[in-house]
Amino acid sequence: LGPTICVGEILVEIVATTVGDGFTEAQPLVGPYPSGAPAIFIDQCGRIGGAAAMIGAVGDDDFGRANLDRLRRDGVDVSGVAVDPDWPTGSAFVRYRADASRDFVYNIATSAAARFGWTEAVAAVAGRAGHLHVMGSALSMPGAWPVIEKALVSVRLRGGTLSLDPNLRKELKYDTETETRFDRLVGQADLLLPSGEELERAAGVEGEAAAVARLFERGAKEIVLKRGAEGATCFQPDGTRTDAPAFAVKELDPTGAGDCFGGAYVACRRLGMTVEEALTYGCAAGARNVTVRGPMEGAGTRAELDAFIRNTARRG
Ligand code: ATP
Repeated sequence: LGPTICVGEILVEIVATTVGDGFTEAQPLVGPYPSGAPAIFIDQCGRIGGAAAMIGAVGDDDFGRANLDRLRRDGVDVSGVAVDPDWPTGSAFVRYRADASRDFVYNIATSAAARFGWTEAVAAVAGRAGHLHVMGSALSMPGAWPVIEKALVSVRLRGGTLSLDPNLRKELKYDTETETRFDRLVGQADLLLPSGEELERAAGVEGEAAAVARLFERGAKEIVLKRGAEGATCFQPDGTRTDAPAFAVKELDPTGAGDCFGGAYVACRRLGMTVEEALTYGCAAGARNVTVRGPMEGAGTRAELDAFIRNTARRG
């Protein structure tokens, strides 16, 4: 049916190497690493061998070039990524707290990621796509919504599908309009990939079972709940529940696990794999990625993930 496309922010991430609260004092940092949840998703999708294309924008700078080089190297079509001559590529600084939660400082509101639009190049990419994946974080980018809406119409006209990862970040602004957009996408998504409390937030009801039931009533055909070091669970409307244990790894940098999971899961399902197989690749992609510093540095090719699956024990 055509490639999987993802619309949204492309940025670089800079990571503090010390653990602690926030960024009010000078920190040793590493990076820049190619990043942005939609970019991580599509990179993992491309690495696993699913046809993949990105829609977004970077600045005409080294941060932008680092992202474009990475995506191209990993087989992602970047013809729908604009190079903004005036605004820079955005950045995110991340520091981990002792309890494993994270603080982000985002510089993206006035970056290229905030103001890309529908162009002929974007229309061409969307016009041959078979699946659209949306990250909730992209909904807070001014400019992204009209592109997402048009891309969805284009994909639906071809009989294609939609997946949504809520990917809510406390640092990004979700105003009433963003909430409405989010809710509309929840009602249209074939596949939902929430983690933790995002399941209940997307459904608007409390309790895992009630939230899952509600989302099926609203039209979802598959719900995959990501549970971090506990693995993941797929729910299907006929009541089938498939649990996948996590791989036993030492977590070095959790950022990007969910995006890599999603990129692998969607690519595998679109390649015709069963829920069980796709969950195995998704869990492997997420686990492999947390062992390496940098949000997409641990994304794996199909061969790398096969080797990881063979050589890594599973929890539980
Ligand atoms: P993020 O927002 O950090 O990108 P997320 O909350 O969307 O992540 P997670 O549930 O943290 O998603 O991770 C996705 C998948 O990656 C999990 O379902 C699991 O299979 C794998 N994973 C994540 N963290 C670990 C870990 N510490 N050990 C093993 N596997 C992990």
